[in-house]
Amino acid sequence: MAEQDTPILPAGFPGGIFPAEHKEATAGLPIRRLPVPAVLRVPLKQHIGNPAVATVQPGDRVCKGEVVGKPEGFVSVPVHAPTSGTVTAVDDYPAPHPSGLSAPTVTIEADGADQWTDLTPHPDFEDLRPAEIRSLVRQAGLVGLGGAGFPTFIKLNPGPDRPVDTVLLNGGESEPYLTCDDRLMRERPREILQGGSIIAYTVGARRLVVAIEANKPEALSAMLGAAGGWPQIEVVAVENRYPMGAEKQLILSVTGREVPSGRLPADVGVVTQNVGTAYAVFRALVHGEPLIERVLTASGGALSAPANLEVRIGTPIEEVAAACGGYSDLGRLIMGGPLVGSALHGTAPPVVKETNGLIFQSRAELADGPALPCIRCGACVEACPVHLMPNEMYNLARSKELEKIQDYDLFDCIECGSCAYVCPSRLPLVHYYRFAKNEIQAKEREKEKADIARRRTEAREARLQREKQEREAKRQARKKHARAAQAGEGDSGEDPREEAARKAAEKRRARRGVPAEDSAAPPRNGTAAGGGSEPTR
Ligand code: SF4
Ligand code: SF4
Repeated sequence: MAEQDTPILPAGFPGGIFPAEHKEATAGLPIRRLPVPAVLRVPLKQHIGNPAVATVQPGDRVCKGEVVGKPEGFVSVPVHAPTSGTVTAVDDYPAPHPSGLSAPTVTIEADGADQWTDLTPHPDFEDLRPAEIRSLVRQAGLVGLGGAGFPTFIKLNPGPDRPVDTVLLNGGESEPYLTCDDRLMRERPREILQGGSIIAYTVGARRLVVAIEANKPEALSAMLGAAGGWPQIEVVAVENRYPMGAEKQLILSVTGREVPSGRLPADVGVVTQNVGTAYAVFRALVHGEPLIERVLTASGGALSAPANLEVRIGTPIEEVAAACGGYSDLGRLIMGGPLVGSALHGTAPPVVKETNGLIFQSRAELADGPALPCIRCGACVEACPVHLMPNEMYNLARSKELEKIQDYDLFDCIECGSCAYVCPSRLPLVHYYRFAKNEIQAKEREKEKADIARRRTEAREARLQREKQEREAKRQARKKHARAAQAGEGDSGEDPREEAARKAAEKRRARRGVPAEDSAAPPRNGTAAGGGSEPTR
């Protein structure tokens, strides 16, 4: 079917916004491969979950694709050397995070050879069991490349209680400025579909759907063309409305299934993956390549020559900026899109797996003014795609009424930024929601810690009490045993100590020749009859 005949599925969610797209600066530019920089900085945490643990030390030589950090715990994936060279440091380095803090990082000085480690391709993925594919996907260090950074192997394992019938490849890319997924779909559609097929095989889904926003006609056309030989694949156009690219909103729009609050897409039989992630799955399986590079959009009014670039993970952002002709009049640097991305403090941090965009916004583009009081206009309520009350949540977060704010379904907020975008008072609403979520989660962690400590104390006290009771029981048993033993020798029913004293007195009387019938048991603390002074014990 030609792209112009493809019906456009309307947004199935309420609200949403239509921000200025700013995509024209890069949408027409083919993906350009950035040369490998002289020095790469590879953070050990580039995903949701536990950071990887370094497996190299300064002085080690590494090949491209070699593991330099192994996963720690379940929600974790390895990180790999993006090129061959020498490890020069394993220490803290500025991370691409709004905090501006440093994080453990492996620094590699490139040797220029760019020599691969040994790779094991699996072009016939159907020869593998799903569990083997998940393991390979994990070993390749794959995480969601749409910006979320969630380990892919976990999403590919919905579990036996969640039968999945549909894999939905997300080509929404509804954030302003970003066009890297658009370009990937235009330039590498067959590889994306192969990756999608691997994903569908792994989760046992019969249906593979690629959903693309209607403002990307070339991508739609390319994907439709590539899917031509595969009848089980559907390519659909969806309405161009932000946040169409959000997971739950896309599922609702394409399948009509609503993912309930607090549940996962797999609970309604769907697994979603970004088209970039599907492409990375293809590379990981068919070529055996770990995730060491990605496509990103570098754009924004402050950048001289915006571009779509294929960049090695660990490339310093300043190198990306230099490859785009540098920047001037920078107002704000954002990693990701301007609505859900994170503002960075500088260009020293490296590109990581989650970096789908680097937006160099000029001062003029920001047009920020001071935040003003809420005027209760209700625009934020109308814009919210989740039916929330953003203004009420803002007030509660501001006054730190953390219990009450949960009654407003704070944790259903997908932090899409639609409310803040339409707010005439320029209130940084999403910052307040993030703050409230962090506070609540920190409190829950504290409570959990306190509960664990309380349970440990209670268990210890119970154990001490039990040991005390056992000791007492043993003591009583020994006493009883001793009595029984004495009774076995001649049970007189007499107290053993009195019996011993009586026997001693009898012996003394016998020595003195006093007849036994005249004797009497001596008093416990007195003297023996006959005026002796020997104590009875
Ligand atoms: S950021 Fe949250 S509250 Fe605001 S519009 Fe999006 S989902 Fe609604
Ligand atoms: S859009 Fe802004 S000013 Fe209007 S009600 Fe929401 S928070 Fe208040």
